[in-house]
Amino acid sequence: MPLDLTTLADTSASYAARDPRDILELALREYSPAVGLSFSGAEDVVLIDMAVKIGVPFTVFSLDTGRLHPETYRFLDRVRTHYGITIDTFAPNADAVQNLVRTKGFFSFYVDGHKECCGIRKVEPLVRALAPLRAWVTGQRQDQSPTRSHVPVLQVDRTFGSPDRPLVKVNPLSFWTSQQVWAYIRDHEVPYNTLHDHGFVSIGCEPCTRPVNPGQHERAGRWWWEEETKRECGLHAANTQGPQDSGTGDQESSALAKSAPDSGPGPRPAMRP
Ligand code: SF4
Repeated sequence: MPLDLTTLADTSASYAARDPRDILELALREYSPAVGLSFSGAEDVVLIDMAVKIGVPFTVFSLDTGRLHPETYRFLDRVRTHYGITIDTFAPNADAVQNLVRTKGFFSFYVDGHKECCGIRKVEPLVRALAPLRAWVTGQRQDQSPTRSHVPVLQVDRTFGSPDRPLVKVNPLSFWTSQQVWAYIRDHEVPYNTLHDHGFVSIGCEPCTRPVNPGQHERAGRWWWEEETKRECGLHAANTQGPQDSGTGDQESSALAKSAPDSGPGPRPAMRP
């Protein structure tokens, strides 16, 4: 039975101190099979590992922007075979990509910001990925960056949902630290992206990701040429709108999803495996 959205803030608060497995199990039991795990990074595989062990049907989707590192494609495939799961990959609209590249080239984001390219390569595909779902699960953590410092464990997603089609966003690792994530990866022998062995911490598209130095926020290597408070790609754009009530969740209008062109504590040292 879906969660009561009018009391989601209270439910979120009551689950905030619980183990991520409890939060994930709540989401899977309430929304299975219309619940999707968004997969791209280390946190997401931790959640896949937990979900497989919970044993309730779920889906996994990933956004293939066409600009990922070769290591990331190999990582996606390793996770697929390791767990014997299907990963639904969503590619960007070919005409939109062609038009962007024809008019602005392959690296327009360095000139006029990442929003347009992310809109085409990430947000529009995400809208398609979320269309059949009633809840989606992310690996966002509060200590990843200033833009994620208020992410609750449960929130109404007003960016990609609507009053007619409510969508719940579940962030089971919201209160976990990087150290806890990597301890889980080691203890449970969870596959991870080999780029982590080369100084990369938060990994996105190849041209927009670089390694970070000790002491930097782990997302400091993403869109490093832009202002820190703008470094969300649209998937979690509402994080840049400021602190949110966990029940009312994302404040950005669902118009973003319709037009569709682009995760506490203070800074912590970036953790590597
Ligand atoms: Fe484009 Fe960079 Fe966004 Fe990837 S991260 S979609 S390459 S702007």
